[in-house]
Amino acid sequence: MMGIKEIVFTGKSGLSEPFKTTEGCPACSHKRAAFTKVIGVYECKKCGAIYGECYLGESYELVLPYWVTDEVPAGNLRYYDLMTLGPGCPQRRHGWFDPASKRIAQVG
Ligand SMILES: [Zn+2]
Repeated sequence: MMGIKEIVFTGKSGLSEPFKTTEGCPACSHKRAAFTKVIGVYECKKCGAIYGECYLGESYELVLPYWVTDEVPAGNLRYYDLMTLGPGCPQRRHGWFDPASKRIAQVG
């Protein structure tokens, strides 16, 4: 279960350059998102994509650095696009993941 609160991006507050979180979902451009358990990362209310900025270790709470082990139907996958902070960063982690296992199905 992800966050209960909601945020609406107006594209004006300049929260997260160069990632442009304030412009909304990078997958579908929807402006409404829910907070996730990781501060700085949001879940699109429309397509379920997760995006934002956080520490690399925190990003693993949402998307593990491992590949899916089973075949996952494409309709179950969600887009993720995270700009991570920390040693050796910033590093962009993006692609498609399986929210059930939190594992990566496709990078990029
Ligand atoms: Zn979206």
